[in-house]
Amino acid sequence: MPELPEVETVRRQLEPRLLGTVVTEGWSFPSPKFTDAPAAAGARITSVARRGKYLLVGLHGPEDQQHRELVVHLGMTGRLSVRAAAGSDLPDDAYLRARWYLDDGRSLDFHDVRRFGRVAVVPAGEYTRLATLAALGPEPWDPAFDGPSLRAYVNARRRYVKTLLLSQRPVAGVGNIYADEALWRAQVHPQSRRLTRAQADRLAGTVREVLTEGVANGGTTLRDYRDADGAEGANQHHLDCYGRGGQPCHRCGTELRATVVDARGTTYCPTCQRR
Ligand SMILES: [Zn+2]
Repeated sequence: MPELPEVETVRRQLEPRLLGTVVTEGWSFPSPKFTDAPAAAGARITSVARRGKYLLVGLHGPEDQQHRELVVHLGMTGRLSVRAAAGSDLPDDAYLRARWYLDDGRSLDFHDVRRFGRVAVVPAGEYTRLATLAALGPEPWDPAFDGPSLRAYVNARRRYVKTLLLSQRPVAGVGNIYADEALWRAQVHPQSRRLTRAQADRLAGTVREVLTEGVANGGTTLRDYRDADGAEGANQHHLDCYGRGGQPCHRCGTELRATVVDARGTTYCPTCQRR
């Protein structure tokens, strides 16, 4: 599933290709998850931003009293790409879920095989229809996210630290891959329910590190993720923990253990990451 680094990689590719173009028409697959797509028609794209795992495309139309946003969540298998010279042909691709025709003849296409993705057009910043987005915690590089804030959040709830990272509440953008990587690097057990000051400081730091490195490597492609050019990321070649159950820990040589934490596949080192 695309996490922050994958969405940020796509955002950086799309921004220069979309800024300033006008959406002339929108098409959607007939599912409530995508039927907002045509509502973007008539607006100029004024920004291409991201919050957590959400892509936020700023829209400004002549009729708009305020900016609106096209919100796209890639779900598990969603892919965005800009197609040259789309013309007006009807989409014949079985997995095309939304298409936005642009005034320069190109189109922005959203493909999603498994349909866990989502498209919405909302007044800018009004996310009441998108509960997870509305409740997102700070971006990992926001000063509001640090060791003390993470420790306060975890220790007040007494749930597994990995589950809380995945909730998007203490910090936005972390999914299963980067959670396992950050916990391994900080030497924190995924089922810890309390963090010491030192653990929380380390973990806040490693969350930022693994996400920063993920962006620098163009995201992690395990199976489905492709960037806006259809290319794979390279971060899968740099993983220390995620998906390496049964293989030796890169730090101590102990066999990494694969388990399940709150229904999510989880890998950790039983020697380096003690409860
Ligand atoms: Zn180890």
